[in-house]
Amino acid sequence: MTAEYIDGKAVAEAVRAEVAVGVDAHLSATGRRPGLATLLIGDDPASEVYVRNKRRLCRDVGMADRHQHLPGDVSQRAVEETIDALAADTSVSGILLQLPAPPHLDAEELVGRIPAGKDVDGLTIWNAGLLAQNREGLRPCTPSGVMRLLDHAAVQIAGAHAVVVGRSALVGRPMAQMLTNRDATVTVCHSRTVDLEAVCKTADILVVAAGRPRMLDADAVKPGAVVIDVGIHRTADGLCGDVDTDSASRVASMITPVPGGVGPMTIAMLLENTLIAEKATANALIANAAD
Ligand code: NAP
Repeated sequence: MTAEYIDGKAVAEAVRAEVAVGVDAHLSATGRRPGLATLLIGDDPASEVYVRNKRRLCRDVGMADRHQHLPGDVSQRAVEETIDALAADTSVSGILLQLPAPPHLDAEELVGRIPAGKDVDGLTIWNAGLLAQNREGLRPCTPSGVMRLLDHAAVQIAGAHAVVVGRSALVGRPMAQMLTNRDATVTVCHSRTVDLEAVCKTADILVVAAGRPRMLDADAVKPGAVVIDVGIHRTADGLCGDVDTDSASRVASMITPVPGGVGPMTIAMLLENTLIAEKATANALIANAAD
């Protein structure tokens, strides 16, 4: 068997095109242009590239780019004041604090200051709680992107056995909850899992977000399984994921490539979240004005 590639680049483009149409319609209806505030602290080159891409694609879909760049030695108090100002600014629809923050800062505390309604990364405790209870809220972008890819590929989720490798707050944990909310039977693996390959091999849907280059290959894949590779690593021979794609492709029915799989979906879902956040803000402003 040679697995079919799930084309994340194409799906992400389609999501961004839908968001652009939504931005236009919202602007015509309300006169409000959605605004995304990316907040970058310091000069980490990888973070700079991520933020630059987010800003470019935000402008491409017609949103206002409300970027803020703070110096690497900024105080906790100064970042808190910046977040509070963005939180109070009704022309800012969404706030994204680029992580990791410099180590002298308390990043959890900073994320916690972002109002849940502007938390377009879906990382506040409030939004995590809403997801855990399967209630409406802003969802973390990468696992949302994975769900969108599974739906695009018409993968049967309800009743499937999904194995998620990784339990981070950013990817693994919300991923497992989203799959559970869609009626998959979910197993979560982590660094203490015994016989990881054997557990992975029971998966109909295998999502790998461990942050270990080419950690799993065909030996961890059940014949016909759908493999979603969230990992992204820059190695001497180019970009690769957490899965050995060539090897796993011989066994899986579908697989996401790296690059061009999950990666492009993350920013597309961020933009979708920003439009969702903006619509809620606009509705609240209209309701307040009517009171
Ligand atoms: P993370 O915070 O480092 O979490 C990694 C998780 O994998 C942890 O839960 C860890 O277990 C588990 N793990 C590590 N080694 C393992 C092993 N040998 N066997 C089983 N489990 C193991 O990483 P993350 O933020 O979730 O990101 C995961 C990967 O996704 C990274 O490669 C990252 O670059 C990538 N990523 C990509 C995107 C994108 O847009 N494509 C977005 C976010 C992340 P413990 O909990 O026991 O430590």
